[in-house]
Amino acid sequence: MLLNVNELSLSLKRAGKYSKILDQISFQVEEGETVGIVGESGCGKSMTALSLMRLLPEKALLEGEVNFQGEKISGYSKRKLEKIRGNQVSMIFQDPLTSLNPLHTVGTQIEESLLLHTKMTKKERRKRVLQLLNDVGLPRAEDLIDEYPHQLSGGMRQRIMIAIAMACEPQLLICDEPTTALDVTVQAQILELMNKIKKETQMGIIMITHDMGVVAEVCDRVIVMYAGKIVEEGPVLEIFQNPKHPYTQGLLDSIPKLGQRKEKLGSIPGTVPAPENMVVGCRFADRCSHAMDICRTVHPPMIGIKENHQTACWLYEEGDEKDGSIGSHKLEAALH
Ligand code: SF4
Repeated sequence: MLLNVNELSLSLKRAGKYSKILDQISFQVEEGETVGIVGESGCGKSMTALSLMRLLPEKALLEGEVNFQGEKISGYSKRKLEKIRGNQVSMIFQDPLTSLNPLHTVGTQIEESLLLHTKMTKKERRKRVLQLLNDVGLPRAEDLIDEYPHQLSGGMRQRIMIAIAMACEPQLLICDEPTTALDVTVQAQILELMNKIKKETQMGIIMITHDMGVVAEVCDRVIVMYAGKIVEEGPVLEIFQNPKHPYTQGLLDSIPKLGQRKEKLGSIPGTVPAPENMVVGCRFADRCSHAMDICRTVHPPMIGIKENHQTACWLYEEGDEKDGSIGSHKLEAALH
């Protein structure tokens, strides 16, 4: 297993007191697998990514275990983690313009991680930079190497970010909304590039997105997060065909389908509760049309619906789909 995250919790200090941002997050990523983490803003997706590499504010309280290639990296010093970052684990963020240094050429910025993490000579580094520019589909690499970020389009800048991330051939790539700031055509090209990279390398990828369409394009497995907790997890096809959690169903309802008029798209009423206003039971209860009494008092545990498909919702009971039985809570909801 490439990455094993076990009961990761994160608390941040806000207005003088600690609030839980992530609550016992557990998941795995295998080599060559692309795992999507989805949810609306404020669900904890980006914080999950930043917690893996401990890119957190100073007073953050992080609990739980992160194992990378069998090593418990959650116990590493910041210095030891820095050696992994940009080398074995790379990250791509939403806005390439703020991630790139406007004062340095594209070539220098791609070369930087080679300089930091490899023993390549200057000539070897230049050759690798040109090859990377080529790999991410950028034309006229020989000229581009000396250009500055402001001379490039948004899509080109995001390709540069991908080239930087790929420079040291990482085993794990974490992408946080890599296509959100791009227009639809460029978004499609970047997703195509991600799929090409996925096919050509054995890299594990974590794709953080609010967009189920992006998940459908590139992911093998999907983790749905709501208010700092995982509420559903399973293979992409299974989640799309057979979503169980009412929140996942709401997210899928908001994807435009062929032939559907835009104004008929479903959306989930209400907003994600703030960490300082977290409720006792199911955190989705205030927005859920199936909410029952138990939902407001006890948080539902994560249960297996069938192999590799789990959800945390009182509508279901362990192995619901294996024997076709209806859980008593589901029955209660039907009678509600
Ligand atoms: Fe809705 Fe209850 Fe399931 Fe939460 S546990 S999603 S409130 S039915």
